[in-house]
Amino acid sequence: MMATPNSRELLRQLVAFDTTSANSNLALIHFVGDYLSQYGIDAQLVPAADGQKANLYATIGPQDKPGVMLSGHTDVVPVSGQQWRSDPFTLSERADKLYARGSCDMKGFIAAALAAVPALVEAPLHTPVHLAFSYDEEVGCLGVRRLLDMMHDLPVRPAMAIIGEPTLMQVMVGHKGKQALRVTVSGQSCHSAYPTAGVNAVEYAAELIAAIRRLNAEFARSGPFDHAYRVPHTTLHVGVFQGGTALNIVPKHAQFDFEIRHLPQDDPAAVLAQIKAFAQNELLPAMQAISPQANIEFNALSSYPGLFTPPDATVVSFVQGLLDHKQPTDKVSFGTEGGLFTQRLGIPAVVCGPGSIQQAHKPDEYVSVAQLAACDRLMHNLVQALRQHGNI
Ligand SMILES: [Zn+2]
Repeated sequence: MMATPNSRELLRQLVAFDTTSANSNLALIHFVGDYLSQYGIDAQLVPAADGQKANLYATIGPQDKPGVMLSGHTDVVPVSGQQWRSDPFTLSERADKLYARGSCDMKGFIAAALAAVPALVEAPLHTPVHLAFSYDEEVGCLGVRRLLDMMHDLPVRPAMAIIGEPTLMQVMVGHKGKQALRVTVSGQSCHSAYPTAGVNAVEYAAELIAAIRRLNAEFARSGPFDHAYRVPHTTLHVGVFQGGTALNIVPKHAQFDFEIRHLPQDDPAAVLAQIKAFAQNELLPAMQAISPQANIEFNALSSYPGLFTPPDATVVSFVQGLLDHKQPTDKVSFGTEGGLFTQRLGIPAVVCGPGSIQQAHKPDEYVSVAQLAACDRLMHNLVQALRQHGNI
């Protein structure tokens, strides 16, 4: 048995694993699994199809009751192209801040959860804690879907979830959902001196992009609005465009990627249907009149649902009750796995974790010593709450 662990030491160990999403996270997962087994906890690994990565799921306390799930992703964003003052995979303390890739997003939360394990085991708990650590969150909440499949068939599912993304320990009750798509426009090339014989894929793509912009403008003008978000409405945006080979050739090929970031109450399928209808009705007939093979194809890149937790949900008051310094609830603009847990499994969720999203994904990412301590306090209060009968 190791010396009593603390969150800072565990964070130092967790950040030393380079779990950039492109890499395997298995070394970290095995480290966590070994750590848990020292306290007699059996962790279940839910591997990726290729076996190179895995989710980890474990229950501490009674196995036959729904409990409180502590959820975090183990992958981190790349450091390539970033200038760091110290090695991103070595925890470095300067002026009460702990610097490393993943320190706030979101190994700090995982470290605090793991540091609480001895107390959770010793308590003993009346209501269990579930640990759910995923992979490939940063590349579209991909890994957690296999975990959701596994959990779907569990005899007992968690009663609620805390998603430990960095919120400066404020309880967040909502975030937008996202759909990312790739559009491929296939036209017909010809010499640009005779453009009427061709189908200009770049220009038709541009017309579709203009339609996407009009939809965005309509949301900005008419809503619906939720002013808890800094951008209070659903937005659409095109981020990548490719097409054409030379100015004197009518381009045969164009491709662009766009995303819909929607309020949880807006239906992205309906928005997408409008865009597809425009392509189908306004663009394709003219294109196919020249070339029957001309086409516009939509392919989904990634998506996750929004999170909308009612302010009177038990999870909100329960987690607020665990905080020594409570603030009013709010909503965040970034996505999390929370929406998936709610949508797929009906597990109500809030987002609450140490550090700020302002430091996430950037060089010199850090979590402050004070934030990590605040998360330790939350874990301490969680142990106390779950020792007692009927707290959730
Ligand atoms: Zn994150």
